[in-house]
Formats: sequence, structure tokens, C-alpha cells
Amino acid sequence: MLLVFGARSTDYDFGPDHVLTPRRFGPGTDLLRAVGAEPGLAPEPAPDADLRLCHVQEYIEVVRRFSVDPFGPMEAGIGWGDNPPFADMHEASAAVAGGSMRAMEAILDGRAEHAFHPGGGLHHAMRDRASGFCIYNDPALAIARARRDGLRVMYIDLDVHHGDGVQALFWDDPGVLTFSIHESGRYLFPGTGDANEVGEGAAAATAMNVPLPPFTGEAAWYPILESYLPVLAAAFGPDLIVSQHGADSHAWDPLAHLHVTTTAHGKAARLVDAVAHRYGGGRWLATGGGGYDAYRVVPRTWALTWLAGAHRDAPSSTPEAWRERWADEAARYGQAPLPERFDDEVNAGVPYDLNQEASEQRAVGLAAIHRAVVVPRLLRFAIEADWWSPLAAVAAQSGSAADPAATPTIVPRIDADAWARSTLLPRVIAPADARDGHALVAAALRGPAPAAVSAAVVGSSVVGLAVSAPADPGDGTRELLAVGVAPTYRRQGIARSLLAAHATSRSSAVATLAERDPVDPLPRELRASIARRLLEGAGFDVGPADDVTRSIDRGAIAARLR
Ligand SMILES: [Zn+2]
Repeated sequence: MLLVFGARSTDYDFGPDHVLTPRRFGPGTDLLRAVGAEPGLAPEPAPDADLRLCHVQEYIEVVRRFSVDPFGPMEAGIGWGDNPPFADMHEASAAVAGGSMRAMEAILDGRAEHAFHPGGGLHHAMRDRASGFCIYNDPALAIARARRDGLRVMYIDLDVHHGDGVQALFWDDPGVLTFSIHESGRYLFPGTGDANEVGEGAAAATAMNVPLPPFTGEAAWYPILESYLPVLAAAFGPDLIVSQHGADSHAWDPLAHLHVTTTAHGKAARLVDAVAHRYGGGRWLATGGGGYDAYRVVPRTWALTWLAGAHRDAPSSTPEAWRERWADEAARYGQAPLPERFDDEVNAGVPYDLNQEASEQRAVGLAAIHRAVVVPRLLRFAIEADWWSPLAAVAAQSGSAADPAATPTIVPRIDADAWARSTLLPRVIAPADARDGHALVAAALRGPAPAAVSAAVVGSSVVGLAVSAPADPGDGTRELLAVGVAPTYRRQGIARSLLAAHATSRSSAVATLAERDPVDPLPRELRASIARRLLEGAGFDVGPADDVTRSIDRGAIAARLR
């Protein structure tokens, strides 16, 4: 894993009284070196043309002005408070951006599979203003650089604060999925990141937010990540992963109120690595982020993140020499003693009380409600029914492409043997990769309570599908899980024919913004109206979905066939 660090990394410095301190690089890079990480890329300032991928020139000029005269009146978020001006702040900030962008280029041209830029992760900066200790938004700039090459990017933000800048910069880009897990904006800066922030227009369902109540700890934080990241990647189909590993969700962090541990952060980094290998072609850029316990927490989180990307186990204990070297300085800042292990004790040694238990139950419950809206129904059902697991490998299907001029034949109930001989065209159903979709349906047809699958076929190619499964095996009700047609066969009434052949009485369906073509999605209102017309055409009674579902997706619909 390429480590991005150099002489300029410590120049990003808001002064001795600021909590985001370059002092963290001392014990941080020292511990990184101790686990085998040597810096391989030194950040240099990104030119304006690069910064303009996400920022306006007027803002860059404001930063330059403060760079020369750090005493001007507050402007564009820079001034007394969170983002105080300092001499050469443009060069220092542009170097953070340059570090992440050059690391991205190393990944894009194959010089590095993974890269880690601990000084990066300045995720609050907006197009035209500074925010939350962030001048230029380096993760967003790295993403924009990959977008310039046409790549689809999944962004994973583990910082305790909402990744609002990255979300805002790609709010209407359906080619970037932003996922942020953070302490709820009701209690913490920047105040945003509600579950109902989901993206707009065609990009609806490409912003994902999991706000957590204060005191939520590793027992909920990590399982929630595990329940989202692989399945979201499967549905979205990214070409690469960018992640932000802010260490401020840790139980000892002085600025926030979550109870996450280094153990959970290390596991999270390994999960991101696994997702990058399974769904991102192995391409992964990790950045640092917040983290205000600069001695006890930040260095270990960085080391565990790098070790995950280097595919190496963590040593059993932190080096004694490292602890001795930084002991006095850590004590001076009230962050002693330095831990002897990379992993924390359970709950980082913080007493587990009823408040935390209640918060974690609430966090898990809210995440489940949100996931039910933002994850395609077929994928959620397939995981629950044990048909499919998003991180398991699949065997490639073989077969030839269908003749786009041929009229498909509708097979009302395809069986497992016929399915095994068929090929599924891309973008018929979730997941994004048709090989995964083929494996999923194969398993669904074999289950103890098998799915019913109707297919539109041309030769041995499946160009359209309708899938349903028993909703309650006891009472004969069924749930429609997916209806889809490959792009070249759309607008020919195939979905309507499939549904007419498929639907049985006592069926139900819920259509949310998750049901979409991830590559070329329609605007959310259009998606909802197409789903409504399709279901009504097949005789379903269609109405708004329940209030909880609509609190996240206002256009969600529910349908029932008597
Ligand atoms: Zn890896």
C-alpha cells in the first residue's frame, strides 16, 4: 500500500491552539514506519486547474490572499474560529489535495493497487468555501480525477462527522456513491447527514447516510458497516473505492461522543479492502481525516488502516521504543499512557452503560429501516434468505450476447436447469454485475422456499426478469422482488408482459428509489411513475408506501394484488 507523506504534510497547520494538529504526524508516521510503511509519495501543491475540478477559481484566489496576508477579514469560511488563516495556507492546502490526486493517478495507471494518505480526508470543504478545518476537499478532488477517466466511484466516510462536502460535490452525479456513517447531526457538526439525504434526480440513491446517536460503540458501528458496504457495492458496481478513516469516532476522542475502538477501525479498513477487491478491481485510495487524540488513537488507527491495505496482520503489541519516544509529549497533552496494543480493550475500556445500550439498539434499528429503502429489494431478500452473500466469489457464466433485433419469448416459470444453461444480460436486475445476478437467481431457484422467476429470453440469453418469493411461507402471500429489462430491450412492453405472466394473487410489492439501473438511472420521479404504471397495468392496487419508508424516500410506492 503506497504511503503518501512528505515534508509538506506538516505544513497544514492552523496554529498551536488548533485541535487538528500536525503534531499527530510525529507519533503517527513513527508507528507507520514501525509496522513497515515507508512513505513513497511526497505531496506537492496541486495546480489551480486540478483544484478547479471541485472548487471555483474565486475561492482559490481568496485562499491565496489569506496565504499572503493572514490578517484579512473573514471570507469564504476562512477566519477566526474553525479555519483560521495562516501564512502559505494555499500551498499547504493545495499540497494535501495534490497528495490525494497524485495517489489516485498512481492507482489509475496501475503503479499502486492501494494508497493511503493519512494527511488527507478534508471532507468538509465546499466548492466555494472552507469548512470544518478543511480548505480544499482532497477526497472529492481524487474522486473527480477518477471521474475524468470515466470511472464510477464508491466513497466510504468513517469519520465521526458527516462527509458533507464530498456528498454535496457529487449530489447530482449518479456515477459517485457517497456513504457516510457518523454521529447524528442533531448533536454534532456539521448538522447534516440525515437518513433522508439520498441524492436528487437521476442520482437519487447515490447518497447514503447512517446517523448514529451519541455513545454508539463498536458493537453496533462495525456490524452496521458490514450490513451496508458489500451490498451497496454489489448494487452500485464501482470501478474503485475511496475511503476516509477519520479516527474521531473513537471513544477517547475529545470532540465527539461515539464509543468506537481501534479494533473496529482496523476491521472496517479490512472490510473496505475486501470490498475494493471484490467490486473495485482492487483499486482503493484511503485517506485519514479527523482524530483529535493525536497520541493514543490516531497513530494506531493509521497503522491498522495501512496494515489492512498491505494485507498484513497487526503485530501483537505496539513497539516499546515508540511508546518511550512519545510518552512525555503525550503526557504533556493529557493523552498518556500510550497503549501497548494496536487493538483496544472491549469498548476501549469505557464502562458499557444503559445509555450506550439504548443508543446501539436505536442505531441498529434505524439502519435496518434505512437499508430497507436504499438497498434493492432482491439483494436484501437474497441475503436474508441465504441465497447469496455479496462478498462470496461467483463462478463466471458463459454465453453469447443476444440478437437485439429478435423478439423475446416470455417463459412464465423458468426452472433451475434451464436457468443454468442461460446467460443473463447486464443491467436486467441488481446486482450491477450480471454474473452475480445469475448466481443469485440460480440459488433462489434451488432454495427450500424457491423463488418464482419469469424470464424474457432470446436464444439462451435472458433479457428480462420478474422475480418473486414467498413473503410468508405460512399463508401463501408472495412478494415481488425485482422486475427488469436489459437496456436495448426497454420500451417494448417486455416488463409489462413479464409481469402479466408472473403475477399471482396475494402478491405485494414495494418500489423505492433503490430499484434503478445503476449505470444510467432515470430521475427518481420518472422511476416511480414507471413502476406505478407497470404495477397498475398488471392489476395491482398502488398507493404510497408506509410513512416510515416515505420519511426516507418520499416517492416510495406500495402495491397489492388481491
Ligand atoms: Zn487489498
